[in-house]
Amino acid sequence: MKKSLMKGFVLILSVALAVFGIISAFAFNSQLIYDTKQELMSDASMIAADFDPSKDADEQSDKFSAAAENVRITIIAPDGTVLGDSLADYRTMENHLDREEIIQAEASGRGSSVRSSETVGKKMVYSAVRTPDGYYIRATKEVSGVFEQFFSVVPGMIFALIVSLLLAAYLVNRFSKSFLNPISEMNDSLIAVVDGEKLLRPEDYRYEELENMAAKINVISSRISKYISGIQQEKDKLNYFLDNVSEGFLLLDEKLYILLINSAACSYLGCDKSATGSHLLVAARNYDFIRCAEKAVEKKDKLFLDLEMGGRTIESAFTYVGEESGFAAALIVTMTDVTENRKAVKMRREFFSNASHELKTPITSIKGSAELLCSDLPVSDEQRKELLKRIALESERMSLLINDIIMISRMESGDLAGDRENTDISEVISECLNEVVPMAEQESLKINVSTVPAVIYANRKDIRGLVSNLIVNAIKYNRQGGSVDISLERQNGEIVLRIRNDGDPIPPEHQRRVFERFYRVDSGRSKAVGGTGLGLSIVKHVADSLGGTVSLESSAEKGTAFTVRLPVSDT
Ligand code: ADP
Repeated sequence: MKKSLMKGFVLILSVALAVFGIISAFAFNSQLIYDTKQELMSDASMIAADFDPSKDADEQSDKFSAAAENVRITIIAPDGTVLGDSLADYRTMENHLDREEIIQAEASGRGSSVRSSETVGKKMVYSAVRTPDGYYIRATKEVSGVFEQFFSVVPGMIFALIVSLLLAAYLVNRFSKSFLNPISEMNDSLIAVVDGEKLLRPEDYRYEELENMAAKINVISSRISKYISGIQQEKDKLNYFLDNVSEGFLLLDEKLYILLINSAACSYLGCDKSATGSHLLVAARNYDFIRCAEKAVEKKDKLFLDLEMGGRTIESAFTYVGEESGFAAALIVTMTDVTENRKAVKMRREFFSNASHELKTPITSIKGSAELLCSDLPVSDEQRKELLKRIALESERMSLLINDIIMISRMESGDLAGDRENTDISEVISECLNEVVPMAEQESLKINVSTVPAVIYANRKDIRGLVSNLIVNAIKYNRQGGSVDISLERQNGEIVLRIRNDGDPIPPEHQRRVFERFYRVDSGRSKAVGGTGLGLSIVKHVADSLGGTVSLESSAEKGTAFTVRLPVSDT
């Protein structure tokens, strides 16, 4: 800026000096000519008064010329004939009636003009006066005007110009410093002002314009700070929201550079937030994921992809958003952990397949027996009885199975908590025991019961399902003459139900799986004793829903024991 200021000043000064010089030269030149004309006019007037037409005109011209220094005197007759000239031979001179100064003098008594003389070939000033007798006295003088003298003054002018320029440069330098210093001070403070760290002090600037500018900059800076903090707040809110949703979220531009990524997406992809601004390749090192993103942009479409990431199933949706939305084209990627969902779908599918399979056997058996009874084939009374017994048995199995399936479905649909009431588990144990007494007697089992009142706020049917399945299993899978130990106690704010039985233990490799639906250790035995494969999964489901646990210990020495721990609930 200082340089431009200096250049500008030098240019302006040079132009001003040149214009000044030219205009002055013109003014000076015209003043010089005017003065010369006046001087010559006065000479010619005085000579006209002394002129005597009766004497030799040429001699008189010499005499008058000698009296007026450097002035040429010409005496012209009224008809224009030159009668005498102090410089040239008048006899060789042509008629002067057409000369401009003579024409003017003929009209008004005096006249003057400036032109190059045909006689002497130089620029001359002519002034003529008409005498009362009609003669013309003309005084002539060479005029060397400013322009003629120009070249003689060029060195001086150049010197003057250089001196003026140096002086101007010095002054401009000083002036620009005093002018630019406050501006550069302001400039130095501007970054801090823009960052909102401080404000300018208008009173520190000695020019009014800068003072106003500083005040306005302060206003603009405050507005910008307010605006930026508003944007930052909105951004923080958005980030807070995005970082607190379980879904992964990514916003990419068309070239797959990351514009926004939330914490969940970072953890799914195994990167951190510093991936913002980088290409997707940097954040996601998964070929299928990147390929799907590219395809969604290519096809300008919405695509889905399921990926196994760290043992979880992540469903990613790639949605291309075109420019028609009013924003730059972008790709939005959402990532959802669908592991539980998929597991549930798989489990449901397996459940229905197993349930149909389980139902098929009794139905086939009932159907076969019924068809045989209805056929024309000869059937003995004993066979008929046998067939009817089988139909009754299979119907009973089917009924048990359907009851368990209904219970499982009810639990699956989250209907477990319906109709809760204060239920004393010791009472439920007594009810169940009453029902299994014949079964236990048949196997000569000894049942040892030790209970305390233990009230829980729960659905009575569910508690019954839990207790009954464990007691029935303890009898079903017992050995002839074995024993069943049932204890119910309260320990550290928990209700602990323990049911132990003798009999073949559950092999360790099956122990973890017996709580799965339709899982049986020995399918043949289970079916033979009327098992559905759903009993323990109902037990686990009920315990889980009440915030409790169920565990299993099984060995040849100690038999098999199931322990259910339930937290005592507030009524
Ligand atoms: P089931 O209807 O076949 O009894 P459960 O889910 O109740 O189905 O039990 C799963 C399997 O666990 C049974 O098939 C059985 O082999 C084993 N089991 C369950 N309870 C006992 C127990 N008290 N003693 C020994 N084995 C048992």
